[in-house]
Amino acid sequence: DSLGPEEFGLVVAHYGKRIEVESLNQADDAGSTEGEVISCHFRANLGSLVTGDKVVWRRGKDAGVIVAVQPRHSQLQRPDPYGDLKTIAANIDRIIIVAAPYPEPHANLIDRYLVATEALGLTPLILFNKSDRIDASNQAKLDWLTERYASLGYDVLKVSTKTRENIEQLTAYLGNYTSVFVGQSGVGKSSLINSLLPGYEIKVGELSEATQKGTHTTTTAHLYHFPSGGHLIDSPGIREFGLWHMEPADVLDGFIEFRPLLGYCKFRDCKHDREPGCALHKALEAGEISQSRFDSCNMILNSLDHPHG
Ligand code: GDP
Ligand code: ZN
Repeated sequence: DSLGPEEFGLVVAHYGKRIEVESLNQADDAGSTEGEVISCHFRANLGSLVTGDKVVWRRGKDAGVIVAVQPRHSQLQRPDPYGDLKTIAANIDRIIIVAAPYPEPHANLIDRYLVATEALGLTPLILFNKSDRIDASNQAKLDWLTERYASLGYDVLKVSTKTRENIEQLTAYLGNYTSVFVGQSGVGKSSLINSLLPGYEIKVGELSEATQKGTHTTTTAHLYHFPSGGHLIDSPGIREFGLWHMEPADVLDGFIEFRPLLGYCKFRDCKHDREPGCALHKALEAGEISQSRFDSCNMILNSLDHPHG
């Protein structure tokens, strides 16, 4: 037919049946400078394609045609209103969990993001933004949180978009990887992204498309290139990653210091509540795991029985 030769590409956005593909030179080239973006169709037998997918495509007369998708090394999935998992982004390397002195940081919320990150098999960075607002009233809390996560082996960094403290360290951490920024509203995700990606402005109107039912708004993720070489995948939906439904087994497994203990309780179906011979309780009594993390885990587990939102 009249299609051109096979070329490599990266899905940078997805609007219904139309997929925006950035041209790449090689399969492993993530496109550190912006390549040509071509609107492509894809064949249904390829399954679902999402932002971050690496594809093989062929140039057509008006649009391109995607002919193959490369295997994903990670995929962000969220349950749809019917409980089915829907993939919303692919090939993410880094999850940046953002918190700040204001709004007040909650260890349990950070733990939720961590569980979701661990379930993906990714390593998070815990980023405390607004370091310029650390003072006597919140210093102890931030120190406590920093110790809580650093002692588990997580990377923790304090930054400020205002004073630009440690923004270079953040840039170095992002490297050539593909990152997403998550965290509660008001912690400074937009500000951070703006300081890393000058001229960036999330066009919510452009990214939102109402579903037929009109009650839920789905948003398509978009991939952007940092001038320093890394990439960002962002959408209003992705920023809420971690607050979606999780399975109880993922929650326990997402508390990394509990992992070596799982499977060592006396009862196979131990709920780690008041059962005798519970390995988690033994570790708790021996001071090997913290009461605060244990309580946080239970809080998340209990919330799964009462899904809302
Ligand atoms: P988002 O909801 O996570 O995207 O947060 P925004 O980026 O919209 O920021 C929320 C508020 O925090 C805005 O008023 C920002 O100006 C402010 N902000 C962001 N970063 C900093 C910072 O480093 N220091 C201070 N003092 N304020 C900041
Ligand atoms: Zn147990």
